[in-house]
This record gives sequence, C-alpha cells and structure tokens, in this order.
Amino acid sequence: MNTRTLLNGLRADTLKDELTVYYQPIIVLRTGQILGYEALLRWFHPKEGLISPGIFITFAEQHELMSEITQILFKKVIQDQACWNHNESTLISLNISAQTLTDDDLLKLLNSLVSGTQVSNKQVMIEITETATLTNPQKARTLIKELSKEGFSFALDDFGTGYSSLTNLRDLQINEIKIDKSFIQNIDDHSHADQVLIDAILSIAHAFGSYVVAEGIETQQTLALLKSMNCYAGQGYLFAKPMPATAIDSWHAQWP
Ligand code: C2E
Ligand code: CA
Ligand code: CA
Repeated sequence: MNTRTLLNGLRADTLKDELTVYYQPIIVLRTGQILGYEALLRWFHPKEGLISPGIFITFAEQHELMSEITQILFKKVIQDQACWNHNESTLISLNISAQTLTDDDLLKLLNSLVSGTQVSNKQVMIEITETATLTNPQKARTLIKELSKEGFSFALDDFGTGYSSLTNLRDLQINEIKIDKSFIQNIDDHSHADQVLIDAILSIAHAFGSYVVAEGIETQQTLALLKSMNCYAGQGYLFAKPMPATAIDSWHAQWP
C-alpha cells in the first residue's frame, strides 16, 4: 500500500480504536533506577499492522487531527497507568506537538485527565520540541508558565537539532533536556565533534539547573561514555525498546 493511500485511512472516527501507546523506560544512568516512561504513539492499521508516528504525525498535523489524537493519547495513558505497578515518583513523558502546545484547552485537558486518577501532575513530563515553541513563542511561554505552576514539568526534546535552543533555556521553565539520538549514536566511533557537543550541552543544561536525558543508547560503550560524562539519564534499545503497557510489569520484574 502506498503511503498516501495508507494515510487516507487515518480518520477521526476510527482513531480511538486504532491508536495505541507504547512505553519506553528512561533510566538513571548511574544507579539503573527507572526515572520514568516515555509514551510513544503507534497506529495499528487494520491491514498494515503497527505504523510508527514518524509516518503519520505530520499528516495528522496537516489534517487537524492532532487535537483528537492528543485527547485519545492522554486517555489511553491514564487507563494504562492503572494497569501497571509503579511508585508515585515515576514520570510519564508525553510528546506534545506545536498545535497542541498552543491549544487553549491543553491545561483543561491535562487537569481533567489527571484529576480523580492515581496520576499526579508532578508525574507528568511534557516533551516539547523547539519547533513547537517557535510556532507561537509568546503563547507557548504563557502556557508553559501556567502549566508549571500547576506542577507539570517540561522537557526540551530533540535538543541541538533546532535553532533557538539557548533562548528557550533562558526563557522557559525547562526541567529536562533530551539530547537527540543523532548526537548519541556516533560517539562510540570516537566522534570527537559529537563528544564536544554533548559535553557542551551537559554544561549548559547544568548551568540552567536542568538535567539531561540521552536518547538512542544502544551499546554498553555509549552507556559507559555517557556515564563518564555525568549524563544523568538515558533511554534506548540497550535498556528496552518501546513496549505495550501490558509488557511493562514483566520487563520491570527482570530489570536489575
Ligand atoms: P522522539 O520523541 O525523539 O522519540 C524517540 C524515538 O526514538 C522513538 O521513535 C523511539 O522508539 C526511538 N528510539 C528509542 N530508543 C532508540 C534506540 O536506541 N535506537 C533507535 N534507533 N531509536 C530509538 P518513535 O516511537 O518511532 O517516535 C518517533 C517520533 O514521533 C518521536 O520522536 C516523537 O517526535 C513523535 N511522537 C511519538 N509519539 C508522539 C505523540 O504522542 N505525540 C506527538 N506529537 N509526537 C509523537
Ligand atoms: Ca520525545
Ligand atoms: Ca529525538
């Protein structure tokens, strides 16, 4: 099936049944403790099976499906939380697109979802990209301020791939910085340039009081290197691939 035909199947009326959420653990590198889980969307196409968000998010944004998708995502995440055993300090990271970040209803939506559930505002980490903050910087800033006051935390995702990283760090309340996997995946080959960049990102993050999560850790060598550089946390296939909520408990049980 070609991509166009495939994407035409992404329709508001079937989203609720066809979207599902996978979770990938985020690990404190020094201790092995589980810091949290990142929720990652998957579209289960009736004929084609599991489709990754890289293929459908842009289409969804262009066709104004993101607001619907985010609502479904939040509801599923909250439902999933009830099914697995974890303690109250485990973070749940949610990716928010530009459209959703500037949506007036985001605060209402988040509050209504969290209230009356086991999940507290403090556990919710909202991952935003720099592109999202650029769409409507003033509005993004106001919303982030408001949501921070309510106890929600923010991560700057894909850090280093955008343009306005430094002003974002100055102007927004950012708790966590995520280094994009494109920087992480070459450091094993002794890429001096990438190591210098990672070192610089770590220093800047620490100076602003944020901690750093490295994405895309696939080898022991990368892990050792990041630990030696004092990177706080990481995620990647070395620890676990994204998995359905039903697999979390058994993964957790075998985790050191
Ligand atoms: P991201 O936020 O940068 O998420 C990390 C991506 O890296 C995920 O891809 C994850 O499966 C992948 N990954 C994790 N560890 C490794 C590793 O060790 N090696 C490699 N090669 N890849 C790794 P995924 O799940 O396909 O998601 C792709 C992107 O789609 C995400 O990138 C995010 O930008 C977007 N996305 C996912 N879920 C949502 C959502 O609910 N809302 C929005 N707006 N965007 C989402
Ligand atoms: Ca992310
Ligand atoms: Ca990334």
